[in-house]
Amino acid sequence: MTNEQLMDALRTVDDPELHRDLVTLGMVKTARIEGGAAAITVEPVTPGRPLKDTIRSDIEKAVRAKADQLGEPAPTVAVEFTANVRTPQDRAKQASPLPDVKHIIAIGAGKGGVGKSTVAVNLAIGLARAGASVGLLDGDIYGPSLPTMLGLDDQTPHSEGDMIRPFESCGIKSMTIGKLVEPDKPLIWRGPMAHGAFQQLATQTKWGELDYLIVDLPPGTGDVPLTLAQTLPLTGAVIVCTPQKVAQDDAVRAAHMFQQLNVDVLGVVENMSYFVGDDGKEYDIFGRGGAEQMAQRLGLPFLGGIPINMALRENCDAGEPLKNFDDPKLRTSIETVVGRLAAQVSMASMSVGMTQPTMSITE
Ligand code: ADP
Repeated sequence: MTNEQLMDALRTVDDPELHRDLVTLGMVKTARIEGGAAAITVEPVTPGRPLKDTIRSDIEKAVRAKADQLGEPAPTVAVEFTANVRTPQDRAKQASPLPDVKHIIAIGAGKGGVGKSTVAVNLAIGLARAGASVGLLDGDIYGPSLPTMLGLDDQTPHSEGDMIRPFESCGIKSMTIGKLVEPDKPLIWRGPMAHGAFQQLATQTKWGELDYLIVDLPPGTGDVPLTLAQTLPLTGAVIVCTPQKVAQDDAVRAAHMFQQLNVDVLGVVENMSYFVGDDGKEYDIFGRGGAEQMAQRLGLPFLGGIPINMALRENCDAGEPLKNFDDPKLRTSIETVVGRLAAQVSMASMSVGMTQPTMSITE
C-alpha cells in the first residue's frame, strides 16, 4: 500500500458527528505507511470529546478493506490524535485564499424565506455606508437572489484571466452564480458539485482589498457552510431568524452547526420582528422578541430586530436597497444591527490577537 492509497482509504472514513470524510475535513495531519505499518495522526475539529474510539476503529476497518482490495496483508494501524482542536484562531493563522479580505462573515438561517438574503444585502450596504469596503458573495447557490436584490440585471460578468471581476452596485462589490448561468434554469447541485461551485465563486472572484466579505449562505445545514468553514478563515457567522417558535428551532440547529464547525456565532438578527401600521402603532405579528429570547437562551449576542416593512420588500424586489436608508425608522434598525455586528467583529478579532499559541501534544 502506498501513502496515496492510505489516503484513499481515509477518504472513506466519515467523522461520526460531521458526516464528512476525514480528508475533506482536513483532519488528517499525517498518514504514512512504512514496513507494513500505517501511522496516522488526526486533528479533531470539533471541541469537546470527539468520538475518538469510533474514528480509530473506522480507520482500522478502512485500512484493512483497502489492503483486501489490493490483495495485500493488512498493515498494523497506529492512530494518534493531536491534543489540540483546530480553532478559528488557528484557521485565521493559516494561509487564506483571500489574504486581502480582513473579515469574512457568513449569514445563515435555519429556514428559507426568513429574510436571510435581505439582511445580508442590508448589512453589506450598511457597512459600506459606514465607510468600509465591502463585498457580498451569494453563497445561496441553489436559489441566488442577489441579481434581483442588487439590481444587477443590466450588468454582464467579465473575466480577467482565470478570475471573475465582481459586480459593483449600491456601493458594494458582489458575486453571484445567478449571473453566470441561465436565469430561469433550476440550480441542482449535489454535494461535491456544490462544494466546487461555491469554492470557485468565493476564491476566483477578484475581490481586491475588502474590510468585510459577507457571505449569504443557503438556508439550513447543508454542504456550503461546511465548505465555507473549511475553505476560508471565517471571522464568524450571523444567524437570521423570525420570531416564531418554528423558525427559532431551525435557527438553533444552524447555530449548533456553526459551533460544531468551530465558527463563532457573532449574533442573531430578528427579522420581521414587528409591523408598524399606518397609525404608527407597532404590531407584533410573529411574536416580537422570540429570536432575542432564543439568542439569550443560547448565550449568543442579539444584534437587533428589523421590522416588517413594505418599502423594504419593494426596494429589494426592485433592486434598489439603498432606498431602505431613506426611511428613518428602517434605517435606524439596520444601522443598529450594523453597529453591533461591527463591535462583535472587533471583539472576535481582539480575542484572536490575544490568544496564546497552543501546544500540539500527541497522546
Ligand atoms: P431568505 O434569503 O431567507 O430566503 P429573502 O431575503 O429572500 O429570504 O426574503 C424573502 C422575501 O421576504 C423577500 O421578498 C423579501 O423582500 C421579503 N422580506 C424579507 N425581510 C422583510 C422585511 N423585514 N419586511 C418586508 N419584507 C421582507
